Parts: sequence; C-alpha cells; structure tokens
Amino acid sequence: MSERLADGLDRRQFLTSAAFAGAGIAAWPSLLPAGDRSGVADAGAIRDRTERILAAAARPALRQELLPASPLTIERVELLKNGPHFLVRVRTSDGAEGLSVAHGRILSTVYPHFVSVVAPLFVGMDARRVEENVEAVYRTPSHYKWQGLAFWACVAAVELAMLDLIGKVTSRSLTDYFGDGRVTDQIAVYRASGTRGNAPEEEVDFFRQQIEEIGARAIKYRLGARMHYDEASTRRDRALIPLMRDAFPDVTLYADANSSYDVPTAIEIAHLMEQYDYAFLEEPVAFDHYDETRAVTSRVAIPIAGGEQEFSLRHFLWQIDHEVLDLVQPDIFYFGGMTRSLRVGRGAQAVGMTCTPHISGEGLGFLYAVLLAASMPNAGPYHEYKGVEADLPAEPIGGTFIPENGILRVPTGPGLGFRLDPDFLARAEIVR
Ligand SMILES: [Mg+2]
Repeated sequence: MSERLADGLDRRQFLTSAAFAGAGIAAWPSLLPAGDRSGVADAGAIRDRTERILAAAARPALRQELLPASPLTIERVELLKNGPHFLVRVRTSDGAEGLSVAHGRILSTVYPHFVSVVAPLFVGMDARRVEENVEAVYRTPSHYKWQGLAFWACVAAVELAMLDLIGKVTSRSLTDYFGDGRVTDQIAVYRASGTRGNAPEEEVDFFRQQIEEIGARAIKYRLGARMHYDEASTRRDRALIPLMRDAFPDVTLYADANSSYDVPTAIEIAHLMEQYDYAFLEEPVAFDHYDETRAVTSRVAIPIAGGEQEFSLRHFLWQIDHEVLDLVQPDIFYFGGMTRSLRVGRGAQAVGMTCTPHISGEGLGFLYAVLLAASMPNAGPYHEYKGVEADLPAEPIGGTFIPENGILRVPTGPGLGFRLDPDFLARAEIVR
C-alpha cells in the first residue's frame, strides 16, 4: 500500500474511497518532511503510520450484523426541557423511541438552532446509519461555517438518541453493537476538582473527602490560572504538586492546566510533576496551538493529554499522526457524539496511544464516557466521574451510577442503559 501511496494520485484515490467518504475524511493535509517527525524513521514509515491511523478511524463504528434488518426511519426529533435539563427524543415511523440527555448549558443557548436546523435534518433518515447521518448533517449546506462545539453538541444529542433507539429496538446494550463490542464490565473512575486559587491544603482536604466517598484510586486537579498564569498561581502549582503526592502516595495523580502556560513554564511544571510520579499533564499550553503543545510533548517524559476542545476529526487525527499529544481526550458532546469519538480512539489505538474520553458535567456525560471506554481496548486506566446532575432522576439499568471502591459497573440495559423517571419525562415540555 505504501508504495502505491507514494504516488500522489493513488493517495488521493485511496483517501476518497468509499470507506473514507463514509468517515468524512475526503482529503488529508500534506505530510511533514521526515526531519520534522521525532518518532518515525523515514518517509515510508511516515506514510505507513498515516495510513494506519486513517484506516483505523475509517472502520465502521457499529457492528452491522447486530443492527435491525429493517430501516428505523426517523419520523420526529424532539427537544424536551424540564428545569435546566434538555432531553432529545427520536421516534420512528413504527413508534420506537430513543432518548438522550443533552448538554444542558449549551442547549440552553443554542436550542433555536437545534430546533430549526439540526433536528429537521435527521427526519427521514434511517437511524441504523448513524455515522452517515452525522456526516450528512455536517456536510449539509446550512451547516457550512457552523463548525464548533455548540454545533457538535447539538448533533451529539441526536446521535446518542439514535444509538439508544437501536438498542431499544434490538434489546441490546450499546456496548454490544458499538465498536468491536464490550471489552470490560467495569470502569475505574477518577475524581476531578474544578477549583483554582484555593490554598493547597484545602485542595488536599477536598480530595481526602472525595476519595473516602467513592473510593477513587485516581484524582485530577487544576494548575495555572486557566488560559494564563501569574505569580500566585505558579506559587500554588509548585506547592501543590509535591503536597498532593505526600498526601496520596498510592493514588494516580493527574493535573490539568487548561491552556495556562507558555512553553518554558509548561516544561518546568512537567518536570516537577515527573519528579513526583504524575501520570499526565493536560492542556499545558494553548489547546489550539499544536506546535507549542508538541514542543512540550517532545521535551518531557510525562504524558501530555488534550483534545477536549477539538471539534475537527481531521485535526484530531493530524495531532495523533504528528505526535502533538500522548493521550487523546475527545469530548463526547463537544466532538459530536460517540461514533466520532470512537474514530479518534481507534486512530490513537493504531499507533499505540491511549484514549480517555473527556466529559463535561452536563447531562449524562459520565455515562456516555463509561460506555465509550467500555468499548475501547485502548481506553485509559481511569475515567472521570462527575455523577448524575442534581434533580435529574436517571438510574442505570444493570450497572451502577455510584462507584463502589472507585469502580462503576457498566450498564447492561438496552441502548444507553439508563432509565429516566417517567413522570419527569411526562412533565418535560417540548421546545419549539
Ligand atoms: Mg481539561
């Protein structure tokens, strides 16, 4: 394959083949010269690497043999609201239903676009063809220049409802027909802190409580000052990194800088984290500055994580290919759903990279992340747990929503494996 692809024309033909058209990767940025790539020896090896990533990302996300034989034609896509919670319900012409809990904060702002543009595009589609539907909505002329987290969070909510629908119709858990099938029944969780600016000792106390509550064996806290750093934040960072290790000698430690640093500071902080055996540093520099991120990644030993704000599949795979990150974190909402996130995970797997889905604490984000992690052989050892939002009466079917000894059991119920209080659903109003 690599010899054929040495010819530019053949390469284009390969990339626009049916498989790649389905994956939505119609073209690929030109390759960097071999000298710019640290982990690959020569131009042939570079091409092989790129091909492996693209081929893995292009594989079908659903196990076709487990899908219903007859079309699941979508007749209606409804956005429902109860309090701060937004739900998406898809209905087929046969009366089957799928339900997802959407990203409430984003939907509360962009619901007019969801209702007037996104939802109608899915009507008439066959829900079994989830990937093609998402791709078609992405490529529709009305979405030219609508790229971004707000757009993809709308698409993700419908995609999740379609995936739920398939499971309801086939009486199967998503993890049966998603990816290559379920690879684990249990997901170990980590707990994250959303606080900055508090005293290091207060942060330690917070995690003592968290660890006691859910038994987490891994934690993540925040460094820097979010998209910048200053004297006070750096003082806190330097105190917190050793203090956390002293306080939790047997716990896996992660830290998230949320794009705070410049390259020299990021490298200095990364080296300090290495001394105390941290497992990753997330978003050390501007999240969309791939060159700077790679400058950090290539100079430190600690794995560099990122990707929660990425919304382009092409950019994500490019970052994997060019070793911008050591560990990728697609956000199931911001990145447009489970199937696109799986593509990133598979692209990463093709080059031995770990994928830890990112979640925002909205809707049932943690559940979707659990289902995705349970379907990926290269999922990280711990996944973020944020729990069910207050006032959202959702419970798992055949699994757990509250960790025991830091472990969640992956739901086995149909589709997304959750049940919503029927009264709560009945009281939800249709958003028009
Ligand atoms: Mg983060």
